[in-house]
Amino acid sequence: MKTEVVKITDIRAQQAELARAGKILRGGGLVAFPTETVYGLGANGLDADACANIYAAKGRPSDNPLILHVADRAMVDTIAAEVPAMAEKLLAAFCPGPITLILRRKDIVPDRITGGLQTVGIRMPEHPVARAMIRAAGVPIAAPSANISGRPSPTTAASVLRDMDGRIPLILDGGPCHFGVESTIVDCTEPVATILRPGAITREMLAEVLGGVKLDPAIVGAKTVPKAPGMKYKHYAPDAPMTLLEGPAAKMLPAFRRQIRRLLGEGHRPGVLASTEVTAGLRDILPAERLMDYGPQGDLPTIASNIYEKLIACNDTDADILLGEGTTEQGLGLAIMNRLHKASGFHSIVI
Ligand code: AMP
Ligand code: MG
Repeated sequence: MKTEVVKITDIRAQQAELARAGKILRGGGLVAFPTETVYGLGANGLDADACANIYAAKGRPSDNPLILHVADRAMVDTIAAEVPAMAEKLLAAFCPGPITLILRRKDIVPDRITGGLQTVGIRMPEHPVARAMIRAAGVPIAAPSANISGRPSPTTAASVLRDMDGRIPLILDGGPCHFGVESTIVDCTEPVATILRPGAITREMLAEVLGGVKLDPAIVGAKTVPKAPGMKYKHYAPDAPMTLLEGPAAKMLPAFRRQIRRLLGEGHRPGVLASTEVTAGLRDILPAERLMDYGPQGDLPTIASNIYEKLIACNDTDADILLGEGTTEQGLGLAIMNRLHKASGFHSIVI
């Protein structure tokens, strides 16, 4: 199959392209599209066979449910059996935006997309191309991130093409994604809301709206079964094994230099995924192509928006071992650290 990439820069002028995407989706095909978090791989969310194509294209385990993307509040009611008060509050405060609500599902939602669960993940993206495409399709769009399962999520159309070339007919290119990490998943089916996956809507923002919010213990590495089935899988990992250095920013550069000297002494070709400050301080001992700069220390929005592209870039180097720099776990840092912990298989050195 030939994969076509179509740039969408003007939604009004490009209605024909969007109508074509809608037609492919209604016909059971797949279309990759931009959202404000990462690129999604979309299919008609009410068509089990169409969704089976997503699992095949990604190599995704069948027990890992898909999130349904809706264009507006009315579409939520077509798939959710009930919208509890806490979910109404989250819809009002954060939708459209980078948040996914887990709600009880209606029977119209196929078993195949929920992995047999009686709940469904619902998200209302804010990205204008995503919204226009869902409207053009006229149905909720099931969409996981548009990467091969286990790999970093794509935040540019070029990265989607790298994983999906030949597997899908169409990629809508809306430029780089704004946030760069996936939506915050909040389980709204219990009396107290629980974060199942941290994202751009932070724990602190949720607590402000809801009063209380819990964190699924699996997010911080507890050996419990995560409530979001997908969180149990190895994810975001670059090809070379990665160790994360965690500790105060001021101690990072000396700790990196120590670790790198040791690795060089052992005959390794270390690569580094770290801040501007740390990568700049390593130029005398490592070649520039093995220094992946994810942004200034403490600039969490920049780090989040760069993290996946830099993880992908690690695979373009000849590094045989990687060292990553941890951030704070406050605010957006919780989402960044969740991805870094998963990318490194929870292998960390505390400095
Ligand atoms: P992705 O589509 O790659 O962003 O991953 C979606 C994440 O949402 C995975 O971790 C899924 O396991 C999780 N998820 C989707 N639907 C549900 C659900 N009904 N209950 C719990 N987690 C869900
Ligand atoms: Mg994903």
